[in-house]
This record gives sequence, structure tokens and C-alpha cells, in this order.
Amino acid sequence: MTIKAYGAHAGTLPLEPMDITRRAPGAHDVQIDIAYCGVCHSDIHQVRAEWAGTLYPCVPGHEIVGRVVAVGDHVSGFRAGDLVGVGCIVDSCRHCGDCDDGLENYCDHMTGTYNFPTPDAPGHTLGGYSQQIVVHERYVLRVTHPEAQLAAVAPLLCAGITTYSPLRHWQAGPGKKVGVVGIGGLGHMGIKLAHAMGAHVVAFTTSESKRDAARALGADEVVVSRHADEMDAHAKSFDFILNTVAAPHNLDVFTALLKRDGTMTLVGAPATPHDSPEVFSLIMKRRSIAGSMIGGIPETQEMLDFCAEHGIVADIELIRADQINDAYERMLRGDVHYRFVIDNATLTS
Ligand code: NAP
Ligand code: ZN
Ligand code: ZN
Repeated sequence: MTIKAYGAHAGTLPLEPMDITRRAPGAHDVQIDIAYCGVCHSDIHQVRAEWAGTLYPCVPGHEIVGRVVAVGDHVSGFRAGDLVGVGCIVDSCRHCGDCDDGLENYCDHMTGTYNFPTPDAPGHTLGGYSQQIVVHERYVLRVTHPEAQLAAVAPLLCAGITTYSPLRHWQAGPGKKVGVVGIGGLGHMGIKLAHAMGAHVVAFTTSESKRDAARALGADEVVVSRHADEMDAHAKSFDFILNTVAAPHNLDVFTALLKRDGTMTLVGAPATPHDSPEVFSLIMKRRSIAGSMIGGIPETQEMLDFCAEHGIVADIELIRADQINDAYERMLRGDVHYRFVIDNATLTS
């Protein structure tokens, strides 16, 4: 089947309308009409070939929500009409230790929702800036939020799970002081989720203009990280810091804020490396720097259910598909409040 999409033919070119094909649903497949797709900074990194190995044409998008239109004969968990989501994963080997643990995100053979090799035309996966997607049922999530919130649910499929998973793994909760660095798509979800988990949340931003907004998102305190005196006031006090910044920066100013045995987990994935951290700062307080990648399918469902229960959605700016190139420029300036979401009904020409 041929459908409308938005993508790029090269890393130096803007995104433009294009036609793509989707496979007919197989026995275990779910065919989804995409209603909305969030815009992740990883889309920019990949469509512009900032990370190695982008496959063109590149149709980004891995924060997908919509309605099931058809299912294969062996699909038992979904039926036509269901509200569903698809995140960053559309396949994995299904039999390694990581898959058995429901951590398909760490499977060596994980297939990402776009820019990964697949038998389907054109030989690599194409993402959610498109009218429809066909996905094996194992990788489809159930959405239980009210339908009116659907556009604001889309960012949970990447920004939500990428912050939820490390917050759970490093046990954010009552009695814990948690920092969230960078208030963009991921960071604003990190603030909301850490707050809902009961932690004392401190937001770090480079943007003075986000100070009040960060409090409204659920931060107990806000620090403008350019101000050394504000940073110093939090020295050696954090149990955990979640760093979502999309660009290389000085990590030492944040590790200095960890208390003994504290961890800073990097989820931001800049195109070029950070300078090496100051080793003595880690040694002296047995501090850790860690990484985390999205989350597995069971935990993504757990996160969606947690958000539905706590009334959590993303703060979004809904855009037409033809506004995507401008949205990218605004994200690169930090001018995002706090996630752009494409209205896929505008993918008509
Ligand atoms: P975003 O919406 O663009 O937000 C990034 C935020 O980082 C900005 O809003 C800004 O917040 C802060 N920042 C500070 N200095 C910056 C600079 N020089 N350039 C850009 N941002 C700067 O991005 P996102 O969608 O949240 O993604 C953040 C990063 O996480 C990206 O690198 C993305 O690829 C990565 N990511 C990783 C995973 C994973 O599984 N680990 C999953 C999804 C995304 P302030 O204005 O508050 O300073
Ligand atoms: Zn993403
Ligand atoms: Zn596997």
C-alpha cells in the first residue's frame, strides 16, 4: 500500500513530502492509522546524519499514536478501533536474554522504528511522519488515556519511557533528591515523572526564560546552570541526576552536585563526545556516570499506565507536517515548549 510521508533524501536537504509503501499486515501484525507523531531530537540527529549510518530516504518519527485499522489472523491482543502507540522499537530477535527479560531495547538485533535494516521496501524502516504503520503486535502499546489527550500522549512513547526507565532503575522516589538537566522534550517529561514518583525534583536549564515553567511542570527548585552561585548551593546533595542535554557540555559541574554514591545518567546523545569527566571528582565520592536507552516494551506499557493513572501527558505544540523544518530549527535553539507533535491528518499532499 502506498501512503503519504514526510522525510529527507539526504542529510543536507530539508524534509519534504514523499510517497512510501507499507507491507500488507502479516498474521501477527497490527496496521495502524497514525493520528499524531511526536518530534524527538533523535529525529534531527539521524535525519541530518549527525550519528553515523543514516539510510535514505529517511522518514523519522518514533512517538506514534493512532487507531488500529486491521490486524493479522493470529493477533489476539488488539482489534480494529483500538487506540495504540508505537515507540522506538518495531522488532528484535525475541529469544535472547534481553528480549526474554522484556528489555528489547538492549537486544543486539533490535529494529528501530526508522533507519534500521528490514526486509520491507526500501530495505530500511520508515517512521511515524507518515499516514500508517504496520508493526508486529509484540511492539504495539495500549493507550488508555482519554482520546482527547491523544496528541499529548504521543511523546510518552520516547520522551516518556526514556526518562521513566532510568528514574525507576535508579529508584527515584520519596526521600530522594533528583536533578533533571535540560528542559526540552525528554527533560520536561523527566520533571513530571520524577515529581509523580515522589522525589524532590530540581530542574537545571540554560534558559532563564524556562525558570517559571519548570516549576509549573513539577520542579521543586529550578537552577539556571550558567549561574555558578546557584549551582554551588546544591554541591554534594543529589542522589541522582538525569541529563537529557542534546549537545556536548561540561559534565563536571553536575557530577560535583552528586553526593557520595550518587549517579548521573546520560540519556542525551550528542553527535560529538563530551570532554572526559574529571576522574578525581568521581573517585573521591564513589560517584558514577551511567547511560540508559529508551526502555523495553513491558516497561513502556507500565509507563503509559502510570501516566494514565496520574493524569500525565506531555506539554505540546501541535504542528502541520509542512512546519517540521522550522520546528527543527526552533529545537536547536532550545525554543521548544516542550514537544512538537505532528498532526498526521495534514499529510495529505
Ligand atoms: P530537545 O527537546 O531539543 O531538548 C534538549 C534540551 O537540552 C534543550 O531544550 C535545552 O534545554 C538543553 N540544551 C542545553 N544546551 C543545549 C545545546 N547546546 N543544544 C541543544 N540542547 C541544549 O531534545 P530531546 O528530544 O529532549 O532529546 C535530548 C537528547 O536525548 C537528544 O540528544 C536525543 O537524541 C537524546 N535521546 C536519547 C534517548 C535515549 O534512549 N537515550 C532517547 C531519546 C532521545 P534548556 O533550554 O533547559 O537548557
Ligand atoms: Zn526519541
Ligand atoms: Zn533479542
